[in-house]
Amino acid sequence: MTTFRDVAGVDPSTTRYRTVAALRDHGVLSRAGLARATSLAPSTITAVVRGLSDEGLVVEAGPPAGGRGTALRVKGQLATVAGVDFGFRTVRLLVADVHATELARAERALPDGYDSARGLQVVREMIDDTLGASGLAGRALSGIGVALPGPVDSERQEVAPSSVLPGWAGTTASAVSAALGAPAVIENDANLAALGEHVYGAGRQGSSTLTVKIHSGIGAGIVLGDRLVTGSAGGAGEIGHVLVDRLGPLCRCGKRGCLDTVAAVPAVLASMSPLHPGLRFADFLAMVAADDPGARRIAADAAELVGGVVATACLLVAPDTVVVVGALARAGEVVVEPVRRAVQEAAVPGRAAPVVSAGQLGDRHTAMGAVALALGGLGWRRMAGAKALLS
Ligand SMILES: [Zn+2]
Repeated sequence: MTTFRDVAGVDPSTTRYRTVAALRDHGVLSRAGLARATSLAPSTITAVVRGLSDEGLVVEAGPPAGGRGTALRVKGQLATVAGVDFGFRTVRLLVADVHATELARAERALPDGYDSARGLQVVREMIDDTLGASGLAGRALSGIGVALPGPVDSERQEVAPSSVLPGWAGTTASAVSAALGAPAVIENDANLAALGEHVYGAGRQGSSTLTVKIHSGIGAGIVLGDRLVTGSAGGAGEIGHVLVDRLGPLCRCGKRGCLDTVAAVPAVLASMSPLHPGLRFADFLAMVAADDPGARRIAADAAELVGGVVATACLLVAPDTVVVVGALARAGEVVVEPVRRAVQEAAVPGRAAPVVSAGQLGDRHTAMGAVALALGGLGWRRMAGAKALLS
């Protein structure tokens, strides 16, 4: 494995460190661009780049868009990382290089209520099969980011006890690393969906993103100043359990009237059931797309409830972008617009409200966030608060 420090060294004042850091942060730069980004003399850049090229660490990336000279970038193969996204019935794998360029992907089914030993065994086999089938056999993974659909204590790097993932409580990142054969870092999936959209998707232009996922439950992931905010015991962003109806239905958390109970996918389908018993979610989305007034009303009302809670969260943390993801977001503007309206109405007059948009990465957001986490841990992405993934 080659970490950023392996290539750049540890002294940020050296010309080599500054050059490699500029390539890391900008992706692709010409020699002139490098000189500007580092404030180093062009002759110094030429010498440093020649040395890095001779070592095979920096390569030409073709002509720069609209610019002159040769575009340079760090060699993509310096590290191969994986993002793993555990769902309740399936697991997704995404293999990527230093630039987060996708090299391979795979998806497998998991048995209901799978425990950590079973889940990790499936992923280990998946990694071996996928690398082999993609011509990457023998390419060891430098790091793996793992997303789990339940609470994770980010600081301790340990799965917190919960009814959502009963067979995983107490599983540590070290145990995951041992099972998968590469350094691993673990995080909650809603947080990684947020990180994925922040780094590579709808939030990439700004520094602070609030991503709300409306799915079988509702959760938010918060990135402030390019740092993933996980909170005490990883509990930040549990907006699904904000009270919205004091006498509302019982929630799986044990309280009643939580946002989850009135606006998550099961609640949406329950609202449809008087006229459409047993409706599948895919059919609900088809009804929305076909402008069925009842389906659109149910989707919009759920989104309005979510928007009310998100608007309050925006006043608290002031993101520049709100990203709406998850199954209900597939309904499109009928869901995004009520969230946007709620956020704009709640904004302090005279201050810019956050931009509200749908996610841009589809169902790859969580795996991409896991890739970002792994690259951050290796130093190949500048990330505040990244957990080091060093051997
Ligand atoms: Zn609840």
